[in-house]
Amino acid sequence: MRDAASTSDEKTVVIGAGQSGFSFCARLRELGYLGDITLIGDEHHAPYQRPPLSKAYLLGDISLDRLLLRPSEFYPDQRIELKTDMRATGIEPDNKTVTFGNGTRLSYDKLILATGSTPRTLPPGLSGGLDGIYYMRSIADADAIAPEFRSGRCGLVVGGGYIGLEAAAVAARRGVKTVLIEAAERILQRVACSQTSDYFRDLHRAHGVDIRENVGLEALHGKNGSVSSATLSDGTLLDIDFVIAGIGILPNADLAAAAGLDCENGITVDATCTTSDPDILAIGDCACFPRNGVQLRLESVGNAIDQGQLAASTVMGSDEPYRAKPWFWSDQYDTKLQIAGLSTGFDSIIVRQGKEASCSHWYFAGDDLLAVDAMNDPRAYMVAKRLIEAGKSPPAHAVSDINLDLKDLLKA
Ligand code: FAD
Repeated sequence: MRDAASTSDEKTVVIGAGQSGFSFCARLRELGYLGDITLIGDEHHAPYQRPPLSKAYLLGDISLDRLLLRPSEFYPDQRIELKTDMRATGIEPDNKTVTFGNGTRLSYDKLILATGSTPRTLPPGLSGGLDGIYYMRSIADADAIAPEFRSGRCGLVVGGGYIGLEAAAVAARRGVKTVLIEAAERILQRVACSQTSDYFRDLHRAHGVDIRENVGLEALHGKNGSVSSATLSDGTLLDIDFVIAGIGILPNADLAAAAGLDCENGITVDATCTTSDPDILAIGDCACFPRNGVQLRLESVGNAIDQGQLAASTVMGSDEPYRAKPWFWSDQYDTKLQIAGLSTGFDSIIVRQGKEASCSHWYFAGDDLLAVDAMNDPRAYMVAKRLIEAGKSPPAHAVSDINLDLKDLLKA
């Protein structure tokens, strides 16, 4: 790494005051960067964690201040100039300048794009400008949904991915009569094996959620400007009070693309998080990075934190490559799902049944362990994560042997 003292008159600007932008700024100071750091976000709040928005915060179990990644004094203490309610509208790479809607211009030596992603929306023909249709990305979204979660209401959740399932779990716990539809053959089809889908389908049905797979949304109908019923692709007409759509996200790459940076499925970066412009880096949900010969985007807190930290090292002169160590979690009712690794390309699943409702699903490609879904089984998650990160694969028969202490797998 270069001498930190040499950076004292430099300016680093970060667009996007979310998980990865915060992680970058905090680490850059930790590494001894002496220049100016400006962190700009278009939301009203200081950087906060999003996972509780569809879990404990939506349920009303935690307050807004517990979402914040750091208290407000952190930013002046660390000489990080935090500007909220401010949206970047353009980048001029030749002048090394960022422009804002109000005409403000800000120059930079290094620019970090940490712009995150935006929920996919229902086609305008379906939603028709009706009230009562919600998405789930920000505090504002969660605050808008929360009043709908009252006993006796009827909610339709569109999409059986993690966000949709978590929203359905909170709705059901709040006494909402909840129907969840998934257009694919099964919930979680894009991200998990059929055993994991089965586990969560059973869990939701046991809590009264009406899960319907292979069923899409055909039309929404309204009364007095608000959604009042839905026609499903199988012809069913449902009376509903509101809709939550959890149908995936799109990386926020428009600014980068308009500035002429290479973009494909997000903002293209190399292993040091550097874009096609050597003075602009991209991190978090919006960054598409190389892993095992393919470009990939990850939408997770772990990736946002780690890429933020790596990009800070890059700005300080390191050329260390990013080595993603994917992990993820989801909370639904009393089940904590923890995922280690990436399951893409698996050809077999070993099920390890734990005590009561705990179990884990181990994804293999040939003899190689790729990933694990652990349901209420933190030990399986911890062991699997360590094995995957060390590039080690236990024999399948050992994994399924419930008499074997999982920690023994780490000794091999
Ligand atoms: P963000 O945290 O989204 O931050 C990007 C910020 O940039 C936003 O504030 C955005 O408004 C701002 N911005 C965008 N464009 C501009 C602009 N032009 N000017 C100024 N500001 C701009 N991950 C997990 O690992 N586990 C979970 O259980 C989990 N649950 C989740 C639940 C929900 C409801 C959501 C929405 C996400 C969840 N995630 C979870 C994903 C995780 O929160 C994201 O992957 C992570 O926040 C990505 O960080 P980021 O910095 O890339 O983006």
